[in-house]
Amino acid sequence: MNAEEGKARNFIRTIVEEDLKNGKHDRIVTRFPPEPNGYLHIGHAKSICLNFGLAEEFDGDCTLRFDDTNPEKESQEYIDAIVEDVRWLGFEWAGEIRFASDYFDRLYDYAEELITKGKAYVCSLSAEQAAEYRGTLTEPGRNSPYRERSVEENLDLFRRMRAGEFAEGAHVLRAKIDMASPNMNLRDPILYRIRYLTHHQTGDKWCIYPMYDFTHPLSDAQEGITHSLCTLGFEDHRPLYDWALENTTPPCRPRQIEFARLNLNYTITSKRKLLRLVDEGYVDGWNDPRMPTISGMRRRGFTPKSLRQFCEMVGVNKTGGTVDLGMLEHAIRDDLNQRAPRAMCVLKPLKLVLTNYPEDKQESLTLPVHPQDESMGTREVIWTREMYIDAGDFAEEPPGKWKRLAPGRAVRLRGGYVITCTDFVKNDAGEVVEVHCEYDPATLGVNPEGYKAKGVIHWVSARAAVDVELRLYDRMFAHEDPDGDKAVDFTEHLNPESLIIVEHGKAEPGLAEPRQDIPYQFEREGYFFFDPLVSTADKPVFNRTVTLRDSWAKISQKG
Ligand code: ATP
Ligand code: MG
Repeated sequence: MNAEEGKARNFIRTIVEEDLKNGKHDRIVTRFPPEPNGYLHIGHAKSICLNFGLAEEFDGDCTLRFDDTNPEKESQEYIDAIVEDVRWLGFEWAGEIRFASDYFDRLYDYAEELITKGKAYVCSLSAEQAAEYRGTLTEPGRNSPYRERSVEENLDLFRRMRAGEFAEGAHVLRAKIDMASPNMNLRDPILYRIRYLTHHQTGDKWCIYPMYDFTHPLSDAQEGITHSLCTLGFEDHRPLYDWALENTTPPCRPRQIEFARLNLNYTITSKRKLLRLVDEGYVDGWNDPRMPTISGMRRRGFTPKSLRQFCEMVGVNKTGGTVDLGMLEHAIRDDLNQRAPRAMCVLKPLKLVLTNYPEDKQESLTLPVHPQDESMGTREVIWTREMYIDAGDFAEEPPGKWKRLAPGRAVRLRGGYVITCTDFVKNDAGEVVEVHCEYDPATLGVNPEGYKAKGVIHWVSARAAVDVELRLYDRMFAHEDPDGDKAVDFTEHLNPESLIIVEHGKAEPGLAEPRQDIPYQFEREGYFFFDPLVSTADKPVFNRTVTLRDSWAKISQKG
């Protein structure tokens, strides 16, 4: 750990430090380059934290650039969602939001430059023919019969491609590199293709669109990017990234560095597959609280701080592997345990009657909002004759070591008095429907002589309770590697219990107007976050962010 920053070392930080120390750069510039074809997910959070985090740490800049070369799958909805998510994570980009399409004119000029230098040609093979000429991993490709077209002919054809004189697929512009290269990406890759599409930024200005591998390095160069960080999948594309910069005249020479993508167990982080979950109705939109999207996690109650902390814990390396979902949950609990206001909410209400407390009386009790943090202030709860406790906190025949309520046993109601169970009522089905107790007026906040209460349970006043709905989320997939077995569609592994709805919860009075900035800790139940999207005027709905038990912290300490 770097003691000053509290940040773990990683190979990219080391490269940046070296480059600054030896004067290669005075200032670093990174970028986050999402394609606006879906919502951002936890994997993107890692990339965001890395790119913006480095810029923050080394006093550089990070740009936000939409990689919008595939207008077919892109939309303004995705652009807006991505902007909101990056902001919510707490990062601010340098200058305006950029689009690769801002550079289409310049990219076009670079393409003409390549043609003029004899480094690119218009190829008129059909897609099937081109695939045949391409060769395989074990066999070299063959040169296209169009490879030796003259510069003049290439320029003429390319200009006419731009002018819309040809049908889609009739021609492409290809780099002239090496059809025998063991790296398939260098076998005269396509630089431009004809697409008659209206683009969300450039409208109908273009009917030819540049390919990602050509666009990316040259867009990086326009923004003065020093370190262009991408996932390992692009390692084999780096020679092409460098080729594009070496064979044109860009304003600077960014360096591509690859790192391992983040994989989480029990989770899918492929935009294409997340889109399927949305389109096929398995979830309630991209921001369904079960989704590993930033918007889903936000709605569920995850905090920017916890996601940033998680990304820091995961670290950055070249080898990859899969991270345990428990580690993410640990980061959330760690943050919420310190900052979440406490409240009481009963999930399975069981009527409790204090037979020695007057019917018309009520008391207001003052409880801390947070037991360890006085600065968070206090809250009021109401004590009345009729209460609700959780059905799970009463046992007719308690097992050994029972610390909750049972006939003849005493417990403290959190922040209130000690009560002793004197009786209970059953319905015809044999279920306990009411518990009778006597409260001890001498026990508010004190344990008098002969105190017998063993446990503390949560409760709410029946008169003052707020009706709430609770949505209990569990991991979305029941399989550790839902996408691992290609013979089985990943949707087969969806966890049928990923959402359990508790319609009739009872919460303490303050929750009629719940906080919207941070989840609550519902005592003994977990962390819950108010969901304005599905709440109604008379019934607030809370999403369970995470349960209270943290097994990951224990495992990681041992390990
Ligand atoms: P990629 O381009 O890597 O296939 P993608 O197409 O799913 O990712 P993009 O919108 O292109 O999504 O991603 C934007 C940035 O986020 C890219 O730099 C990409 O490398 C990075 N990124 C995407 N998924 C992950 C992941 N699981 N872990 C780390 N970084 C990721
Ligand atoms: Mg991509």
